[in-house]
Amino acid sequence: MNVDHQEIEKFTAIASRWWDLDGEFKPLHQINPLRVDYIIGKITGKSRPNNGYPNNILNGLKIVDIGCGGGILAEALASHGAHVVGIDLAEESLTVARLHALETGLKNVTYELICAEEFASQNMEQFDVVTCLEMLEHVPDPGSIIEAAAFLAKPNAPVFFSTLNRNPKSYLMAIVGAEYVMNLVPKGTHDFSKFIKPSELMRMIDNTPLTIKATTGLHFNPITQGYYLSNANIDVNYIVHCQK
Ligand code: SAH
Repeated sequence: MNVDHQEIEKFTAIASRWWDLDGEFKPLHQINPLRVDYIIGKITGKSRPNNGYPNNILNGLKIVDIGCGGGILAEALASHGAHVVGIDLAEESLTVARLHALETGLKNVTYELICAEEFASQNMEQFDVVTCLEMLEHVPDPGSIIEAAAFLAKPNAPVFFSTLNRNPKSYLMAIVGAEYVMNLVPKGTHDFSKFIKPSELMRMIDNTPLTIKATTGLHFNPITQGYYLSNANIDVNYIVHCQK
C-alpha cells in the first residue's frame, strides 16, 4: 500500500488535538478560510462577496477530500452545502473528525478509513470535486494519489492539490522557521526530501487526464503571523487547481 506508517503514527499521536485552534494544527486552521475561498471561487467561478460565500453555494456537490485528517477542510466544504466524504489512513483522526461533525451538527460529511487508490477503484468518476491538500508530501508515491484523484473526478470536475515546494527557501520557511524557530508545528512534521517541486507535480499530473488551470502560492508573513494567497511566487506552499 502507498503509505508511510511512520507518518500515520505521527498524525495519530496528536489526533486528539485536530480541533485545538492553538495546537499543532493551528497553521491548518489559519490557512483554511483562504483555501476554502480559493476552492469555492474556482468551483463556482464567482468571486467572494464581502460577507463571505453563502452557506449553500456548494449545494448538492459531491466532494471527496483525500487525506482529510480531522476534517478541517471537509467540514468547511460541507458547511457550504456540499456532500463530503473524507478519507484518511489514520483511524484516530477519523474518530475525531466524526465526533466533531456530530458536535457541529453537520450531517453531510462522512469519513472512511481507506487508501485513495482503493477508494478510487470503488468510486470511479463519482465526484464533482476532488481535494487533496497538504497530503502528497507525506506519502511514498504521490503520483499514485494524483492518479487516484483523477479517477475519482467526473469528467470536467475540478481537482485541487496543495503541497510544499523543495528549495532552500522552503527549507528555511517550512522546516527551520515553522518547526524550530517559531514552533508553529511539531519538529519532524515534515521531511524536506519529500517536498515536491512544481515541475515534478506537473509531470505527475501530466500522466493523468487532468490539466492544470492555475497555480497560486500560499504565504506566511512572520511579522504579522498571517497567511495570504499570492501568485507572486510558489516558492514554499502552493495550491494547484486542475480540471479533468
Ligand atoms: N488535508 C488535511 C490534513 C493534512 S495533514 C488538511 O489540509 O487540513 C496530512 C494528512 O494526510 C494526515 O491526516 C495523514 O493521516 C494523512 N495521510 C498521510 N499518509 C496518508 C495516506 N497514505 N493515505 C491517506 N492519508 C494519509
